[in-house]
Amino acid sequence: MRLCHSGGLSLPGALIMSDKPRHFATRTLHAGERYRAADNAIFPPIFTASSFTKRSLDDTPAYAYSRVANPTRDAYESAVAALEEGVGAVACASGVNATATVLELLPKDAHVIVMNGVYGGTFRILEDFRSHTSGLTTSYVDLNDLAAVSAAIRPETQLIWIESPTNPLLQLVDIKALCELARARGILTCIDNTFCSPWNQRPLALGVDLVMHSASKYIGGHSDLTGGIVVAGSEALLKRLRRISMAIGAVQGPFDCYLALRGLKTLDVRMERQCANALRVARFLEHHPQVEHVYYPGLESHPQFALCQRQMRSGGAVVAMKVKGDRAGMNRLVEALQLFVLADSLGGVESMLNHSWSMSHCSLSAEQKGAMGITENLLRLSVGVEDHRDLIEDLAAGLAALGGGQTRG
Ligand SMILES: *Cc1c(COP(=O)(O)O)cnc(C)c1O
Repeated sequence: MRLCHSGGLSLPGALIMSDKPRHFATRTLHAGERYRAADNAIFPPIFTASSFTKRSLDDTPAYAYSRVANPTRDAYESAVAALEEGVGAVACASGVNATATVLELLPKDAHVIVMNGVYGGTFRILEDFRSHTSGLTTSYVDLNDLAAVSAAIRPETQLIWIESPTNPLLQLVDIKALCELARARGILTCIDNTFCSPWNQRPLALGVDLVMHSASKYIGGHSDLTGGIVVAGSEALLKRLRRISMAIGAVQGPFDCYLALRGLKTLDVRMERQCANALRVARFLEHHPQVEHVYYPGLESHPQFALCQRQMRSGGAVVAMKVKGDRAGMNRLVEALQLFVLADSLGGVESMLNHSWSMSHCSLSAEQKGAMGITENLLRLSVGVEDHRDLIEDLAAGLAALGGGQTRG
């Protein structure tokens, strides 16, 4: 590896990797590396300082106050930006805070077109807060229906909020087609790319303006931090986001930036294993007699399989299924599982299971859930890095318990 001395960096003696474009797996390791400190430590240090001293009244160092900029946060932000192929990123205290930061870009009384079945926390900010505080209005549309999107556009429409795949039913949006329409109408686009991580989907290359992540999921990857990040596709947007972040100050702290950056180093190997495991799990479930339906865009039987092949690297590491059983049966399934743990999150190295009806989507009414296709027999699996044979054996045991101990069919 060729290292050369950096010219303009404020960290004395910092080294910078040559600017040669690298493949994704290499970038997951080496992006952010230029923030190595003077002693050439192989990993950037955690800068806990709130303030950085100045030499004179005329001194304008890159780092002055950590709410504005912090070297550990910079290292992490530049790494995610490099993976998403954006111009820069802003790290936030949580995923929902990253969403709130994006919404700060909008003027008062703006209208936002939102993907049907959007993440519950996004819905909550839009409906319970922004609609009251900023006069924001929303239209929820299936963003694959471009005629419906066009019909929903109003003079005050400022943003289209995309989520693909959606949670938990893994519906995709044709990102390229939608962004062409949005761009022609002068409307900003932002995608929640949490379920894919930059490994699986690079939305900026498909025409999106902003990419948002809950770093609590695949970016961190170890279920040990809460964070969010917004990646900008243009310098103008980055500048505005940095100003918002500095003004509202809901920034990611240096310890969590360190953890996220550390997690990122293995993103490529984690995602490769998790997505391959998920495909195997989906194929197993697809033919299981206790399973009514499997939702996984990487299966040939998924109605958007062709779109998945076009815009994603794999079907992802989340699989949803509707099972043949009642609540008691599903409780037996949960108890019988030894590897898949019942949890609210996803995206960690360990396999997890979520009951959308009573967990992630519990704040919605039965009617709202019904309209979204969320039924009481729906389970969402976040597939981890364990050996796929053990995962399938675990699910087989769980499904046998669901059916009262006997396997039918
Ligand atoms: C978890 C999640 C969020 C919110 O992120 P937090 O880090 O929990 O605030 C947003 N979008 C999606 C798709 C998520 O899964």
